[in-house]
Amino acid sequence: MSGEVALDVRDLHISFGGVKAVDGCSFEVPAATAVGLIGPNGAGKSTAIDLISGFQPPDAGQVHFHGTPLIGKSPHVISQLGLVRTFQSPREWGSLTVMDNVMLGLKAFDRERASLALFGLGKVKKQEDRDRVRVRELLDSFNLTAVKNLPASRLSGGQKRLVEFARIAAAAPRFVILDEPMGGVNPVLGERIGAAIKELVANGSTVMVVEHNLAFIDAVCDSVVVMAQGRVIAQGPYSSLRDNPEVVSAYLGEMDNV
Ligand code: ADP
Ligand code: MG
Repeated sequence: MSGEVALDVRDLHISFGGVKAVDGCSFEVPAATAVGLIGPNGAGKSTAIDLISGFQPPDAGQVHFHGTPLIGKSPHVISQLGLVRTFQSPREWGSLTVMDNVMLGLKAFDRERASLALFGLGKVKKQEDRDRVRVRELLDSFNLTAVKNLPASRLSGGQKRLVEFARIAAAAPRFVILDEPMGGVNPVLGERIGAAIKELVANGSTVMVVEHNLAFIDAVCDSVVVMAQGRVIAQGPYSSLRDNPEVVSAYLGEMDNV
C-alpha cells in the first residue's frame, strides 16, 4: 500500500424523477487495495458505479482517478485511462469463442501494441505467440480450457463470469470495479474469483467490488464502504463495521452471520 489515493469520489448526486438514487456519496479508495462496496438493495451502489465509470452523468459531484477528473469523460476514455467496470449481468462477446474473448482482454489496454506494429511483422508474430501462451494459462487457471473453442454465448452464467474474469486478469487494468461478481457463481468458482481479485491487487491494481456475500467481502477486501439511501454511512475494515449501529440496522442483523 503506497498511501496514494486511486479514486476520490466527492459528493455525487443523481435523481431519477423523484428518486434520489445517489444523494451525496463521498469516499476514497487507496491505490493497490481491494475495497468492498456494500449496502441493501436500492442503496445506490450500481448507480454510483455508473456515475464513476462515465455511463451516466451525475447531477452534481466530482470523481478523480489518480488526480485526473473523470466527470464529463466517456466510458471509453475512462477505460483507456485504466478504470474498467463489469456489469451485474456479464457482458461477453457472445459470437466470439471463449479464447478470443480472453485474447481481446489482453489487447484491450496494451499501450505498446499500437507502436509494436511499426517494428514489422516478425515482432508482432512473437508477441502473438506470447499472447497465446498467456491466454492458455488464463484459460487453464479459470477452468475454461475445455470450452475454449465454444462461442461465449453457449456458456452458463457462472462460466460467463469466469470468462469476464479471465478477460480482466488478461487486461490487468489499473482499477477494476466489479458489480456483484459472485452472481450465479457456485462456491468453488467464487473462491477462484476471490483469488483472482487478490492476485490483481498483489500486482498493483486497485479493485472495488460490490457484493452481497459478506463472507466473501470479509475474506477479500482490505476495507469496506457501506452505502444506504444513496450515501456512505460507514467506511473501514470489515471488523469495525459489525459494531456500528447504523450499519447493523441497515442490514437488519445480517452481519451477525459472518
Ligand atoms: P443498488 O445497486 O445498491 O441495489 P441501484 O443503484 O440499482 O441500487 O438503485 C438505487 C435507486 O435508484 C433504486 O431506488 C432504483 O430503483 C433507482 N434507480 C436506479 N436507476 C434508475 C433509473 N435509470 N431510473 C429510475 N430509477 C432508478
Ligand atoms: Mg446493484
